[in-house]
Amino acid sequence: MEKIQKLVEIDPNYIIVVLLVILFTMERLFNRPFRFDKRWQHLANNILFLLAFTFVNYFFAIFQVFCIQWLIDHKAGLLNYVAIPYWAKLIAGVALFDMTSYWFHRLAHKVPLLWRLHRVHHSDTSMDSSTFFRGHPVEIGVFGTASIIAVALFGMDMLTFGLYIFIFTFFAFFEHANLNFPKWLDKTVGLIFVTPNFHKVHHEQDQYYTDSNFADIFIFWDRIFGTFKYKPVTEMKYGLVEFDSNKKQSFLYLMISPFINIKRVSSDELQKEKKSNQ
Ligand SMILES: [Zn+2]
Ligand SMILES: [Zn+2]
Repeated sequence: MEKIQKLVEIDPNYIIVVLLVILFTMERLFNRPFRFDKRWQHLANNILFLLAFTFVNYFFAIFQVFCIQWLIDHKAGLLNYVAIPYWAKLIAGVALFDMTSYWFHRLAHKVPLLWRLHRVHHSDTSMDSSTFFRGHPVEIGVFGTASIIAVALFGMDMLTFGLYIFIFTFFAFFEHANLNFPKWLDKTVGLIFVTPNFHKVHHEQDQYYTDSNFADIFIFWDRIFGTFKYKPVTEMKYGLVEFDSNKKQSFLYLMISPFINIKRVSSDELQKEKKSNQ
């Protein structure tokens, strides 16, 4: 357990910088499924989101850790009352954090007010590892609350929370990386975990696919709750039609976009549009 303790004590900002440098370099060196120009500009734009997120998260994390500690002190949640080994509580705890996040993510696609925030993550028409940063900073309030509710319901401790954040950061980076991941990975690891090819389906323009593969770590939540879908990564068109212009890809526009009424384009409307353009 001491090793896990040491691992989760590493500053997440170091992990983010190291992983970004490694993955950004790999994406330049290797043959990749999605090609686009202006990668540096795309990176700079997404780094602005990371900075905005880090700033808001600095304050939110204090509130979040305070709430989680209060719940731990008051022995809230199921895992406090079941007699299983600690390692099993760790694994179950990470999986249950992921399940709660799965439902909040599903809600963010369903509730119009939450979608206004969450669509910023989906707006990226290009895809590489930096897409992980693309998200409205206020959205931390939604997914951060999911973690607090998870502890209230299931009773994870602080080490489990740290481990969850650690694993989540790794997955989130690799899931957005613009690299060729072999199909055998989907057929083996993909029975339990979210693979990069699976998460990319979640970024497909067509809402039929956007509303799928909501989990961050364990794909079995999507398999159990009936939202797992698959499409080959080479056939993917990323982003959202309603954000498909240079102006709507800028940092400033995306920051104010939750306050703008933008109609979501449904699968049917997208198909009609495609047919009329042919
Ligand atoms: Zn989403
Ligand atoms: Zn994503």
